Amino acid sequence: MGRYPPPGVETPARAAGPTTVDLHTHSRRSDGVLEPRALVAAAAAAGVRLLALTDHDTLAGVRELRSAGAPPLPAGLELVAGIELSTTVDGDRELHLLGYGLDPDNDRLEARLAAFRAERRRRFERIVDRLRAIGCPVDEALAGLDLAATDALGRPTIARALVAAGYASSVADAFERFLGRGGPAYVPRPKLDPPAAIGLVREAGGVAVLAHPADVLPDEPLMDALVEAGLAGLEVHYRGYPPEVVATLAAIARRHRLLATGGTDFHGDDGPYEHAAREVEVPASAGRRFRAALAAHPRPGRPRRKRAPDRATLVGR
Ligand code: ZN
Ligand code: FE
Ligand code: FE
Repeated sequence: MGRYPPPGVETPARAAGPTTVDLHTHSRRSDGVLEPRALVAAAAAAGVRLLALTDHDTLAGVRELRSAGAPPLPAGLELVAGIELSTTVDGDRELHLLGYGLDPDNDRLEARLAAFRAERRRRFERIVDRLRAIGCPVDEALAGLDLAATDALGRPTIARALVAAGYASSVADAFERFLGRGGPAYVPRPKLDPPAAIGLVREAGGVAVLAHPADVLPDEPLMDALVEAGLAGLEVHYRGYPPEVVATLAAIARRHRLLATGGTDFHGDDGPYEHAAREVEVPASAGRRFRAALAAHPRPGRPRRKRAPDRATLVGR
């Protein structure tokens, strides 16, 4: 989750959306609240035509939506396989990377993701233990959440349980008072460094993009290091970013010849999808450049040849 705006910064009264391109969303397979199919339906209903599902550490939702037996995607909607990976720099600066167009059946990628998910599970249990120890047990609330549908457990799920149990007034409040860095139930999780995450995405045939960069205020040495590692884009358009922030990020993207991408980072805790889609606008031109970059990206280990368009692209033509 991005944490923009920082406290004290007001979001613009009027946003430019609704967006027709959304390259950052979460489903219930990680820490979102909607089933992948419901998310896709909500996005299509809100007017989105190019959608990426970017669950944390899992491609389960993408595989499901594209599986042979699955019902067709809504007409006019193109789905991009995506993922979000958490990394740290200098020990405590957290950086999120989005990977797009990865091969969901790449075994090496899947093995790494499975290890990240196992770490998430361990951290989840430790947080629940800590909450019990400080007198705010969420066991009962969690039992009501049906975690079997979740592949990659995240803190928002515990935050929702804290809300359900009456210990917090909202997910944001739960992060502020319990789960965030420095909070009484904060438990760190071992993370990759950004070049390793970029490498992982690229090895699986994907394109790597730095997520919600205003969180980390990427300086030039950091940007140079990421670009050197193979970064392809910057999430310039993001919910709540005021025009001057978008302009600054767009300039950084141009300077480093990076794609400008964007999305809602919708999880489902702050209103329905259509509201989120109204709070950001990823220009259609950015969507076109992104598609072109994905199409041009050679998948390593495979000869570059014309492939039959996948189901998701065929639907809606
Ligand atoms: Zn998330
Ligand atoms: Fe994130
Ligand atoms: Fe996200």
